[in-house]
Amino acid sequence: MSTIADRLIDDAGIQRGLNRLEQSRIRSIIKGVLASETGARLKTYAETCMRCGLCAKACHYYMSHDGDPSYSPVGKVRQTMWEILKADGDVSKQQLQQFAQIAYTECNLCRRCMHYCPLGIDTAYIISVVRRICHKLGVTPQYIQDTAHSHAATLNQMWVKDDEWIDSLMWQEDEAREEFPTLRIPLEKEGADFMYSVIAPEPKFRTQLIYQAAAIFNAAGLDWTMPATPGWDNSNMAMFSGDAEVMSRVERAHYETAQRLRVKRIVMGECGHAFRAVCDVANRWLGWKVPPVPVVHSVEFFWDLLESGKIRMASKHPGTVTIHDPCNIIRGRGLMDKLRDVVHHICEDVVEMTPNREHNYCCCAGGGVINCGPPFKKVRVIGNKIKAEQLKATGVHTLIAPCHNCHGGLEDIIKHFELDMHIYFLGDIIYKHMERPADAGGGE
Ligand code: SF4
Ligand code: SF4
Repeated sequence: MSTIADRLIDDAGIQRGLNRLEQSRIRSIIKGVLASETGARLKTYAETCMRCGLCAKACHYYMSHDGDPSYSPVGKVRQTMWEILKADGDVSKQQLQQFAQIAYTECNLCRRCMHYCPLGIDTAYIISVVRRICHKLGVTPQYIQDTAHSHAATLNQMWVKDDEWIDSLMWQEDEAREEFPTLRIPLEKEGADFMYSVIAPEPKFRTQLIYQAAAIFNAAGLDWTMPATPGWDNSNMAMFSGDAEVMSRVERAHYETAQRLRVKRIVMGECGHAFRAVCDVANRWLGWKVPPVPVVHSVEFFWDLLESGKIRMASKHPGTVTIHDPCNIIRGRGLMDKLRDVVHHICEDVVEMTPNREHNYCCCAGGGVINCGPPFKKVRVIGNKIKAEQLKATGVHTLIAPCHNCHGGLEDIIKHFELDMHIYFLGDIIYKHMERPADAGGGE
């Protein structure tokens, strides 16, 4: 069995935070978080966990490291939160470095283990509290902290300037009008049925996804809009860095933008973690039992368009595909059946990977782990050998994943383990194979 001390990795952000930190602050910050933010939930978990280890085989890190107990869910909690509680918050800087590495880079917050614990203990929640403590002490990996700073300064994850955002939308509208002459990307349209929101990597380097979404809205004849002001980015790395204050500010801006535009609902692009932030975590921090504006993920949106016949497929994606179930919308929202309905609508043949649905293995990128950047990339990819084996066993070369983080994580796994696979979003396939409006050129 290894220990976290055996595998510590240098990270500039963690080290800088530790250098600045005064030992005297540690206990008071930890006691403050535990007393004012955790309540009965953490206490119950701490007092009921039997240390039985039944959660171990649920975790892809444990399985990918040949059953090393140090990577099991309970092992990770034992090396972090149980140490914190045992010491009544009086832990050393050296321990904090270890806590930060485990919490930010060795648990994806995927919540698979919760399904396998006889008591339903949510290890991801416990690890999130460890991240919160690390954040409050300023001990955060550099790369994820940079994205959280971007959220704080710009309300988007990638330092996209206000004029760049509008330019990107206008550019995509211009491009799309060559194919669909009457297409618009309507900005700031008050009272529209839908506000479409995306994550910041889309205007930055995946603009074709905005084009495709516009084509789908246009083909379905929907009344929609996109905001021209900050509040358009639905991603939220502050949720994963432990910065609940910035996380909440980002989500409030998102909802207030939809309220300002008086839209009937928000449609979110194909991103899982963003959906978790908007519908599960940040809304609760803001004190809303239900979101103030109804929100749907793209999977639900596409399902409705295809079931209602607003979008019809001219052809189906040829060949065989397999489905990756993103944790945040499957375990987090229960969209497994709708995801399958959509995939069967748009693809000729589907082979399920095993296990699947709420039992599927995580991509090892969500939960903010991929955002901890290059220092931790190798261990992230190796820490998901089990996913590579699962993908290979399907014998299929086309993978569908309706989540940006999953694309990032799976692309790294496919490359590292030399799997002959390529990945699509649902929107890629719907756009390519849907029936075109009468005035459209090209397409199938
Ligand atoms: S979290 Fe649940 S399954 Fe894991 S050791 Fe504790 S009681 Fe057992
Ligand atoms: S939440 Fe996921 S990554 Fe974290 S310990 Fe549980 S199974 Fe492992």
